[in-house]
Amino acid sequence: MIRMKICKTIQEMRAECRAVRRAGQRLGLVPTMGRCNEGHISLVRAARAKCDVVAASIFVNPTQFGPTEDLGKYPRSFERDCEMLEREGVELLFAPTVEEMYPAGGTTWVTVEGLSDKLDGRSRPGHFRGVATVVAKLFHIVEPDAAFFGQKDAAQVAIIRRMVRDLNMPVEIVVGPIVREADGLAMSSRNAYLDDAQRRQALVLHRALLRVQALADAGERNAGRLIAAGREEFAAEASMRLDYFEIVNAETLDPVEDVSGGALVAVAGYVGSTRLIDNILLANRR
Ligand code: AMP
Repeated sequence: MIRMKICKTIQEMRAECRAVRRAGQRLGLVPTMGRCNEGHISLVRAARAKCDVVAASIFVNPTQFGPTEDLGKYPRSFERDCEMLEREGVELLFAPTVEEMYPAGGTTWVTVEGLSDKLDGRSRPGHFRGVATVVAKLFHIVEPDAAFFGQKDAAQVAIIRRMVRDLNMPVEIVVGPIVREADGLAMSSRNAYLDDAQRRQALVLHRALLRVQALADAGERNAGRLIAAGREEFAAEASMRLDYFEIVNAETLDPVEDVSGGALVAVAGYVGSTRLIDNILLANRR
């Protein structure tokens, strides 16, 4: 097993990444906030399949958390994460401090206009500004040939793809499918907040998406009717507070009326104070 090098400073990480690229090797980056699950690991595996050297980052990015959100209690498991990432063949880990990433006095932000205020951005003002900014910083530090993101965060994917296109960033964006628990719950660091009852209640997210999928498979094309069916599942699960249930174009995040050309069905809700998200992609049937 290759030993994973842990870099805490930007200077160190840059030097390591430059050496990789100077050797003519293709470098992949998997950005994370840690607390690794099989979803994170699937991205590392995809990176290994496409790249010579895999770098990962663990950074709980404060600028993507709102003032009343869970930054302080966000689950962390650095030692375990390191073991998992090293076992999967990650060679470089970037794990900076907040001060390293955000020295005092910074005033520059990346805002992907028109997308940053859709879906999660609507309920989490400033969230996607924080995401786009930190990902842009990571891309400048690592300069990866390819970067790997999970479909779990579908709006994040749309925003990063748009940012890369608009700012001509020389990085290929690769998206991995959602990895789920055996009962269908999408794996997430935030699942750690759920007690047994909440864990069962959270299954309504996937149940509602499956219902939409089944109706679409049976020929329903009208987004309004599909949304109504998905929402019905939530009406039957009163313990879950729905944030949004939307059917949108996966690139623009704008609502669609007809799903024939393919669509993103995205849902977010709260079980207790824990916010969970999930989604499915309906196939283009034109
Ligand atoms: P996070 O640590 O939550 O920021 O996630 C790091 C990366 O892993 C992001 O690109 C996520 O979309 C991805 N990810 C997290 N959970 C899953 C999952 N269950 N399936 C696929 N990708 C995931």
